[in-house]
Amino acid sequence: MVSPFQNESFEVKRARMVRTQLEERGIHDRRVLDAMQQVPRHEFVPEPLRGDAYEDHPLPIGAGQTISQPYIVAVMLQHVALQSSDRVLEVGTGSGYVTALLSQMCAEVYSIERHRKLAATAEETLARLGYSNVKIRVGDGGQGWPEYAPFDAIVVSAATSEMPPALFAQLREGGRMMVPVGPPTSQQLELIRKINGQAEVQVLEGCRFVPLVEGKAASD
Ligand code: SAH
Repeated sequence: MVSPFQNESFEVKRARMVRTQLEERGIHDRRVLDAMQQVPRHEFVPEPLRGDAYEDHPLPIGAGQTISQPYIVAVMLQHVALQSSDRVLEVGTGSGYVTALLSQMCAEVYSIERHRKLAATAEETLARLGYSNVKIRVGDGGQGWPEYAPFDAIVVSAATSEMPPALFAQLREGGRMMVPVGPPTSQQLELIRKINGQAEVQVLEGCRFVPLVEGKAASD
């Protein structure tokens, strides 16, 4: 069936996404809503899928990976309570969409991706759109990026069976980390705060992410 919305501009689609998928489901953080209203998500999906960029589900981005559903991205960003002065580490750059949101909401973004091709495409898209406070590197994000630690916040966009200790070590005292924890088939989003050097864990909602793959970066 042909969608009645197929000829709408990306801007109109984006506004409807923000209203129906985010605001009406309880996302209320103005900075998250504004960033998701501004960042052109369609620029981060492969050309043939652009018409679906504002739909309520993840989309394939190549290398067997996906750009996350808008709602789950909003939940992560709202709970991790970003400040404009924050230095943030992102694990799993993927398309670079969340990187762009972080770039808009924070001072500095460090993002790690294990697939060389995805990292290169994301870097090119982010540079073309003018997101300049971002550094991307190819590698195992589970090891973090010690040269730039400690971070005010860490956002992990891939599922892990337990919170990676190297990442917790690179979180500053009082910092927040968002990570999907659980088996490959389903996880829970966990918000982890570092209080007196200890992890204080708050379990949020169920989710399903691609797995965080340990070890050296993929060859492609
Ligand atoms: N936020 C991204 C999510 C991409 S999916 C987006 O919306 O586009 C998660 C990404 O994590 C994938 O691109 C995958 O290749 C990457 N990934 C998996 N394990 C990783 C690891 N150990 N280090 C870095 N990136 C990893």
